[in-house]
Amino acid sequence: MILANDFKAQWRDLASDAIRAFERVGSSGWYVLGNEVHAFEGELAGYWGSGSAIGVASGMDAIELALRAMGCSAGDRVLTTPLSAFATTLAILKIGAIPVFADTDEHGLVDLALCRLALEAANIRYFVPVHLYGMPLPSDALADLRNRYELRIVEDCAQSIGSLWNGRATGLTGQCAATSFYPTKNLGAMGDGGAVLTSDPDLDARTRVLRDYGQTAKYRHDVAGSNSRLDELQAAYLRDACLPRLDRWTARRRAIADRYLREIQHPEVRMLQPGDGVQPCWHLFPVFVPPATRDQFLQHLKAAGIGSGIHYPVAIPDQQALRGAAWEWGAGSDGSVSRRICASEVSLPIHPYLSEEAVSRVIESVNLCQNC
Ligand SMILES: *Cc1c(COP(=O)(O)O)cnc(C)c1O
Repeated sequence: MILANDFKAQWRDLASDAIRAFERVGSSGWYVLGNEVHAFEGELAGYWGSGSAIGVASGMDAIELALRAMGCSAGDRVLTTPLSAFATTLAILKIGAIPVFADTDEHGLVDLALCRLALEAANIRYFVPVHLYGMPLPSDALADLRNRYELRIVEDCAQSIGSLWNGRATGLTGQCAATSFYPTKNLGAMGDGGAVLTSDPDLDARTRVLRDYGQTAKYRHDVAGSNSRLDELQAAYLRDACLPRLDRWTARRRAIADRYLREIQHPEVRMLQPGDGVQPCWHLFPVFVPPATRDQFLQHLKAAGIGSGIHYPVAIPDQQALRGAAWEWGAGSDGSVSRRICASEVSLPIHPYLSEEAVSRVIESVNLCQNC
């Protein structure tokens, strides 16, 4: 079986580093918001090229707290994409804010021309773009929207750590970025975690207050914050076992993607070819097949022992949880493109522990798919 993620192989590789990290935390006698979190925040910010990082409990919390730190509150409109992890929109809904969805392009990424139409037509001050699949959105176009409409942006970088657009990392154009350490992510912990990244000292300070019950000093609560803290065990594990491997892991993902892009040749299988200067981190490797034959394609992969996924089967505005909630389509968007993506996307295995032989088997199976 070729797995979509191979955590057991990962453990065999990094167990000794992890156990050393766990021992250090255990013997320190300090388990929440201590030296490990502090050191990891510094190392992550250094890696990312951001002024600072603030460890929180999840990627979803990172989006919510960054929006709140920038002043987003109930009733504010927040522009975002209908195609992402549900958490992107849920973070907005939890504030009581109103998601406004701009549809995606033919590859599932939020369409920045439709974003502009939405921003022209309504009073929107907040924007949560998603670098979906690890494919970086163009930072010059994001900066243009930010400046033109005076937007406060949280870039959702849960899938894009290590992605570069003309040499520039994602997450540095918005005032804040959010990332996730959910185990399947490129920098994944052994549990939940996330971080806010920012180079604005004021937003840094506000986010630190919000993640810790709104405490500004011991037992002094100036705002109603959250309990959203990264714990020492996860931080130590990420520091010792994962961050030092991340560049190697990303290089391996890129090598696999290069082979898929070169060697998959099937008339009905469309791929996402990065443009010049675009270096995705390939959190996922999406292919797009005709909706009418996707089930056959999935069955074919399964029969060949190949794990796959769908990202995502349902557009967020079509989820049951959105019924009765306040949300809008942006001007010019009706969701038809993202719904088509939902009906045609399949994610092929791409992870750092995938062997060359496994990659060859995936390519061969895709190319041989008969009724796809
Ligand atoms: C995983 C993910 C999130 C949420 O992160 P959690 O840590 O699971 O809360 C948000 N946005 C995107 C694009 C994601 O992939």
